Amino acid sequence: MQGKQSVQLLNIQADERVFADMANDDANPCLSCGACCQYFRVSMYMGEMASSPGGTVPDELVSRVNPYIVCMKGTEAGHGRCIALRGEVGKPGIHCAIYAQRPSPCREYRVWSNDGSPNPDCQRLRAKIGLPPLPAMPG
Ligand code: SF4
Ligand code: SF4
Repeated sequence: MQGKQSVQLLNIQADERVFADMANDDANPCLSCGACCQYFRVSMYMGEMASSPGGTVPDELVSRVNPYIVCMKGTEAGHGRCIALRGEVGKPGIHCAIYAQRPSPCREYRVWSNDGSPNPDCQRLRAKIGLPPLPAMPG
């Protein structure tokens, strides 16, 4: 599941979390989907905000959940579109405006498992917006 040819590159963090980066090309199904970015509440510790040491997520794009947790604006109650999502959901060109700065839940959410099988949540959310199911991971 790793390597330069993979559409889904996995990066193991110092704390053993696994982050996934998707290729910026036609093999990436997310670039014509975006369903998850208008479904989940995308919450994170305040330390992920750009104003915190090592943080990346622009402060102006988050809402306060409690003294320690923030979430992406638009996703506060779930079933809402993230403020960083650009384009029309389910259409080519949909993308995250802060992909390189996105929060950890977005990095941990994976399209394909280690065995190459598609994420069942992707399949469910894609079906909701009329997209076909994902195939097994290519390559
Ligand atoms: S639901 Fe799955 S395929 Fe669609 S954008 Fe999200 S991660 Fe990508
Ligand atoms: S930050 Fe980007 S990847 Fe995460 S939910 Fe928002 S648009 Fe999607």
